[in-house]
This record gives sequence, structure tokens and C-alpha cells, in this order.
Amino acid sequence: MTAADSSNSGRSPGNRPLTELPGVGPQVAARLKALGLECELDLLFHLPLRYEDRTRITPLNQVRPNTTVQVQGRIVHQEIRYGRSRMLLATLADDSGQVMLRLFRFFPSQLRQLKEGARVRCFGEARFGPGGFELIHPQVTSLGRDNGPPLPESLTPVYPTTQGLAQANLARLVGLVVTRLSQGSIRLPDPLPQASDAPPLDQALLTIHAPGPNEDLAALVDGHHPAVQRLATEELLAHHLALARLNQARARQRAPVLKDEKGLGSRLLASLPFKPTSAQSRVIGEILADLAGKRPMRRLLQGDVGSGKTLVAAAALVVAAAAGRQAAIIAPTEILAEQHFRTLSAWLEPLGLTLVWLAGKVKGKARRQALEALAGPADIAIGTHALFQAGVEFRDLGLIVVDEQHRFGVHQRLALTAKGQRGRLLPHQLVMTATPIPRTLAMTAYAGLDVSVIDELPPGRKPVTTVAASQSRRDQVIERLKTALADGRQAYWVCPLIEESDVLQAEAAETRSVELARSLSGFKVGLVHGRMKPADKQQVMDDFGAGRIRLLVATTVIEVGVDVPNASLMMIENAERLGLSQLHQLRGRVGRGSDQAACVLLYRPPLGEMARARLEVMRETTDGFVIAEKDLELRGPGEVLGTRQTGMLRFRIADLARDADLLDSVHGLAAKLDARAQNLIIERWLGQAEQFIDV
Ligand code: ADP
Ligand code: MG
Repeated sequence: MTAADSSNSGRSPGNRPLTELPGVGPQVAARLKALGLECELDLLFHLPLRYEDRTRITPLNQVRPNTTVQVQGRIVHQEIRYGRSRMLLATLADDSGQVMLRLFRFFPSQLRQLKEGARVRCFGEARFGPGGFELIHPQVTSLGRDNGPPLPESLTPVYPTTQGLAQANLARLVGLVVTRLSQGSIRLPDPLPQASDAPPLDQALLTIHAPGPNEDLAALVDGHHPAVQRLATEELLAHHLALARLNQARARQRAPVLKDEKGLGSRLLASLPFKPTSAQSRVIGEILADLAGKRPMRRLLQGDVGSGKTLVAAAALVVAAAAGRQAAIIAPTEILAEQHFRTLSAWLEPLGLTLVWLAGKVKGKARRQALEALAGPADIAIGTHALFQAGVEFRDLGLIVVDEQHRFGVHQRLALTAKGQRGRLLPHQLVMTATPIPRTLAMTAYAGLDVSVIDELPPGRKPVTTVAASQSRRDQVIERLKTALADGRQAYWVCPLIEESDVLQAEAAETRSVELARSLSGFKVGLVHGRMKPADKQQVMDDFGAGRIRLLVATTVIEVGVDVPNASLMMIENAERLGLSQLHQLRGRVGRGSDQAACVLLYRPPLGEMARARLEVMRETTDGFVIAEKDLELRGPGEVLGTRQTGMLRFRIADLARDADLLDSVHGLAAKLDARAQNLIIERWLGQAEQFIDV
């Protein structure tokens, strides 16, 4: 199905473009569009984040601390207090008592609104302050002489919005559409069979947008309410149906048959200083079977950090080259791509294969030569996303390997597939990730991919010992580091992002490297960050690899794939700011050699609850699967997969961790629906996004 088809058929009667609603000019329309909202149905399916109870007024003598309240009365006193900064204090009184309103920043209009004698309604969280109860920065409505606008009869939903689109305006627009739904002016076909324990679709939407005062609010918010479950079921169903279609379409696709008649693979294995683990051998077997088939391989290779995915990739690359086609391997960072280039050159050039390196920074003559080779004699291309940019042509691309897949956008992957298309033939694809995919996600997000797992590390690896230490103990940590360096060990010191900007990141790392070089005089300290010239970066990595640099200070550029077995210590600063999978990736840089490796997570107190939980998990386990499950629990699936940016898997209401138990009934429902009902559901929930599910 093309995007054009789905947007046309999605515009059924009673589903007007939002520009036809009152008060939606070009500017508001643009903001709505940024939220993915273009027609009335989009608004109906734009669901609240949370609710506020504005159905009642709390008398002032019944205000309790740490509750959200709505109060109203008369301002009896106003003053501006000058301390470290200016502050507006106003006392609100009703017949029963008083509270203080406290504003740290305010406009002249607010001074007027809260002047003595004014009648106002306020909504906000009550706290216990120095002089009794107070509301800090409440939302204020002026009342005039009467009692003000009537109180809403249902809970007030709060919607996700974007800068420049006021919550009130967005809520007003949703309200208009919800009213039209309740009056029957919007038709919303309900394709699911009526279930006894679930409300019909329109009822579920009305409950979610305008819950009555007696609705179970907690269940609505945590998602166990039947109305939420009704919508989540339909959304999961939409994904399931779309994937089933994708699989049908794939059954008709063709790919080049790749077989290693020359026995290059065995020669590769014979040349290595180690034997593949049995998990590596099994996985290589699965991949080779796919490549020898007529259908394009779509395989996800999961293997924890350090499990040896590069060798598996190499085995696949060799088969494509032996079959006379080309193969490409892309990595998310230049450091990693370059490391692959060196490893793979050492392994594959002796077999007589031609390898080509391409990254964004390859310019001029070198680039021209690389492009000529890709369009001609090259067997294997290694690089970054530069490989799938315009102007890069392959002679005959039969296999694409994507390393650390969660770092790439789906669009980029599709672009590379397109480059490999030859008539009806599509290239094979192998996607590698160190982020284990929890079972619930594997069932849905990756239902279109076959999965291979390397569930064994090369022999001799010892789990990394991990401790957490407050930043205040940094001097002690440096002392210990000194002893370790004196013992001949090598170490990483990671300064992860404190600021979003890579300039500031680089500066922070630079400052730290100078300080550390001073405290560790006698040992050579190196620095690597994303803003260095590739050649300089490479020099530093080479020096570290060869042991000339003893301590490497780095930003998170070293997160993926960097492989220096001698390094057995890692210090991570600001560890409390990093996510679990990032910490796991970073820590995976050590523990690759024979020394017992250690990792110190330096944090800046006080620790928030989430950060404390993350550090705890890191101290307790080195098992990537356990870490991924915890990550899912703490953060939710969209972020675990890094799909927030890639647009691959965006659920509006379903939550895979919460709704895993719905998946069985979803499969049952799918079997009962006819093609029309299936189309309707796919379009309603996925619309144009459907094409992006194809990974
Ligand atoms: P990852 O799965 O994280 O990409 P790598 O492919 O970088 O792991 O492998 C990690 C290290 O283990 C490399 O130094 C690699 O050469 C080594 N290695 C891979 N397979 C084996 C094996 N079967 N036996 C011993 N060492 C291996
Ligand atoms: Mg790797």
C-alpha cells in the first residue's frame, strides 16, 4: 500500500481536515501537523497524558498539603518581596480560611490580576510553607462579580502538545471533535466484535477524552481501564495485521542466491588465532542457509557486547564475495567503522578480497577512487551512513550488514536496500545488535525478522566487577587508578554528555584529560572525542591499542564496538545521567582480555530514584538480557529500541510491557476479521507509518 492510498481512504466522511475547524489558521495548523495531527480522526486518537480534577472547588480550610486543588476567593493582601530575587505574594481568602499564592516570576498583568479585592479561581499543588498552606505558581482565572465560568462536569484531560500550541487551545479542538463524536456527526466504524468486558470504540474514546467524575482515574492513567485496553487491543492488532501483510509481500520477493563455492569461509576460519564458539558456528550456519535461498534474508543477530558478532558478519560478507556479488557493512560511528575496516582487512585481504572504506570525511581523490571501486571491482564496502548517500553506486550489492542497528534510522536502511535493488532482486540483510530484544518486543517489533542469538561469550571472559562511587571520592579513585596503571594495566575514563552540544562535551573531556594528566604524571594520557579529525582520532586509538597511551579520556564516542583487549579498567563520570543500555555498552569495552576487569560508576549526588535503580542494576549484573528487561521496565519500549527518532515503532496507547497479555487475544481477533476490517484498522492506526515497519 502506498502513502497516497492510505491518506485518501483515511479521509472518510466525518473526518475533515483540521483547517476546517474554527480558530485553526496556517500557524496553528502547522503546529498541529508537527504533532502528527491533520484530520479530525487524528485528534480523536490524540490521547491524554494525564487528567486534572477541576470539577470541584475545595474550601480553603480543607486544603491538604501535596494535593492538587482548585480553590476560589478574594485577594485580601498583595506584596512584592525583595530577597535574592523578586517574588509576588498574594493572600487568597474565602469564608473558611486563607492560603498564600507565591509567584517567583511574574508579569505586570499578573500583578493586576492578583491585586487586593480581585476575585480569582486558582488551580495548583498545595504545599506547606512558612506561613501555612500555599500554592506556587497556580493557574489563575479572574472571576469578576459572578462566580465565574461553570465548573466542568468531567475530569480535564491534559494532552501532549508542542511549543507554540497552548494546552487550552489544543484541548478546545479535541473537545470540538469529541462533541461531534458524541452527537454522532463523526462516524467511527468499529470493526471488532463486541466483547462483554470492553466498551465499543466510540465509548472508549469518549471515556478517555472526557471521563466522568466517578471514573476510575488511576486505572485510566496506568492503562488498566477497559477503555484504554480496548484501544490498546486495536492498536496492537493494527501492528500485527500490518506485519502479516509485510510477511506475505516478502514471500514474493526474490534475492540473489549466495553460495561459497570457493571455500573462502573455511579458509577464513582456518586463518584465525581462535576457534569460533559453538554459538558463533550455529549462527553462521543459520545465516548461510538464508543466503543460499531465493528469498531475501531479513535476519536480526543478537549477541551481547563482546560475543563476537564481527566474525559472524565476516563469514557472511565472504559468502557474498565468493558468489561474485558485493557486500556492505555499515556502522553508526566512524571509530567503529574504521575498526571494522582494520579487523576485516586483516582477515579478508589474505583471501584475495578487495575492501573499500567510505565515510563522510573521505573527500576529493580518495573519495573518487572509493566510488570507482564500489561501482567496479570492490568486493566489500565498509563505512558509515556515507555508504547510502546519493552519488554512491554499487556494481552489484547482494548483502547488507548493519551493525548496532538501533543507532540507525529506518529511512537510512531503506535507502541502502534501494541501492542494492537489481530489477526484481533485493539484497539480503543482516542486522546486528548488542541490545537484547526482550521477548515481548521480539514478538511485535521484530515479528518481521528472523532472529539468531549468540548466547555464549568467547572462553576466558570474566564478568566485570562494578562499583558506584560518589563524585566526591574522585581523588581516591584516581589513587587506585595510579596503582593499576603502575601494574601495567590500561584504562578508559569516560566523560559522557553533560550538555547536549558536542562542543561542550569535547571541552569537558579536554579539561578532564588535562587534569588527569597532571595527577597521573608519568603515565601517558590520551584524549578522543567526536570533534577530532579522523586521522588524529585514529592515531590516538592506535597508540592506545599499542599500549603507548595508558589512560584514554573519551566522550561516549567509544560506546560501541571499540575493541582494545588490554584495557581492563573503566571510570564513567556522571553515570547517573546515562541509560542502562548505554552504560552496558560502555562497560563492554573492558573485560575482553585475561585481566579481571573493573568499572567505577561515578555519580553526582543526590541520586534520583530512577538513577539509583539503574546503578543498582549495573552493580548486580553483567547479563545484557537482564539489563534489557530492566531497561524496558524502567523506560518503556520506544526508548529501549531507540525508535523515538526512527519512527519505526510508535505506539499511541499500547504499552508492550503492560499489555503483553493482550497479544494472544490480538492473534485470535486477527483471524476473525475480513480484509475490509483489516484495512480499516491498519489505516486508522498506522496510516502512512505502515511502510516504516519494514526494517
Ligand atoms: P561484538 O559482538 O561486541 O561486536 P567483537 O566481534 O568485537 O564483539 O569481538 C570481541 C572480541 O572477541 C574481539 O577481540 C574478537 O576478535 C574476539 N573474539 C571473537 N570471537 C572469538 C572467539 N571465538 N574466541 C576468542 N575470541 C574471539
Ligand atoms: Mg561489534
